[in-house]
Amino acid sequence: MNYNINEKGYYGEFGGAYIPEMLYPNVEELRQNYLKVMNEPSFKTEFDELLKNYVGRPSPLYFAKRLSEKYQTKIYLKREDLNHTGAHKINNTIGQILMAKRLGKTRIIAETGAGQHGVATATVCALMGIECIVYMGEIDIARQAPNVARMKMLGATVVPATSGSKTLKDATNEAIRDWINNPIDTHYIIGSVVGPHPYPDMVARFQSVVSEEIQWQLKEHEGKSNPDYVIACVGGGSNAAGAYYHFLENEHVNLIAVEAAGHGIHSGESAATSVLGREGIIHGSKTLLMQTKDGQITEPYSISAGLDYPGVGPMHAHLYTSGRAEFIAVTDNEAMNAGLDLCKLEGIIPAIESSHALAVFEQKKFKPNDIVVVSLSGRGDKDLATYIKHFNL
Ligand SMILES: *Cc1c(COP(=O)(O)O)cnc(C)c1O
Repeated sequence: MNYNINEKGYYGEFGGAYIPEMLYPNVEELRQNYLKVMNEPSFKTEFDELLKNYVGRPSPLYFAKRLSEKYQTKIYLKREDLNHTGAHKINNTIGQILMAKRLGKTRIIAETGAGQHGVATATVCALMGIECIVYMGEIDIARQAPNVARMKMLGATVVPATSGSKTLKDATNEAIRDWINNPIDTHYIIGSVVGPHPYPDMVARFQSVVSEEIQWQLKEHEGKSNPDYVIACVGGGSNAAGAYYHFLENEHVNLIAVEAAGHGIHSGESAATSVLGREGIIHGSKTLLMQTKDGQITEPYSISAGLDYPGVGPMHAHLYTSGRAEFIAVTDNEAMNAGLDLCKLEGIIPAIESSHALAVFEQKKFKPNDIVVVSLSGRGDKDLATYIKHFNL
């Protein structure tokens, strides 16, 4: 079984490019060039240099001793929380801004929900001195004031999406409309392994530095480069794709994907896409999608803004249906408790998204000699208000 993308842009039956005809030239230009550009030695050199000196890579692979003692297994944390801007998203935006420059683009657009991807995009645009327009739902702008301020400080223009539910979906529609109207000079930076081919593959490749590092770092720690398990939370699926990438074809490495169950999988307030989703098309790709009987996208819910997405990337839809990855759903409460636990046991305050991955240890028993790597996708500074409210701190 092949778990990576095929020549046609599909992971099994998922993926592809289901886009309006007007968008075809933009997406096709990217499809024809992305691998060629990524394989240029000068691209690799510049990407690696920025990951090292700007992002701060390699991020440590940290053996969590007290957490390991508690759960009687060997737990390593891949510290994406220590990256510049506080999460893995910067790996992708650095890659895409370099891609945009190589394609001669002078203007960047992006969509953002909670604002994390908007901030990561605004950051690399400031770094390169390129104009940046971020579309964001009007409701999200009101909910996420600190990230809106960050984007403005970084020189981006934040444009409110005022149609529909005034959230991520509507911001995406606005960004697509912009791209159709500005096909020559503009690149659209998508923030996860979602969207039409080649985006899921391109983003997975930029994030694959995570598993590349895990391999040599684990070799240093344990004398072998393959863990027994890799655990990652899944919103769209980019931190998981990066953490899995170099292990996809090695079935001795077990993959665990963690989705947000919100108030409970069947509570009507969740984002557990694999369990609740059916095949459908969102953001230009065929994937598993939470939808009503007549195909309307269901509004997702999670306490963590980054997991609050009604679909998953096509790679993850394929990992789910093929059984290659085990999918586990974690509720708001379970995630919050696991997050606080990490603070007390290891002195690390995780993003609430990452806390979902940590909650797996309460649900699943590992053997004492298992080597379990957890993708600690981000840090919790951005979530302080939510932690304060939840625990009455
Ligand atoms: C955005 C985000 C996620 C979810 O996005 P993926 O594409 O699924 O990785 C997870 N963790 C953090 C810290 C995030 O900011």
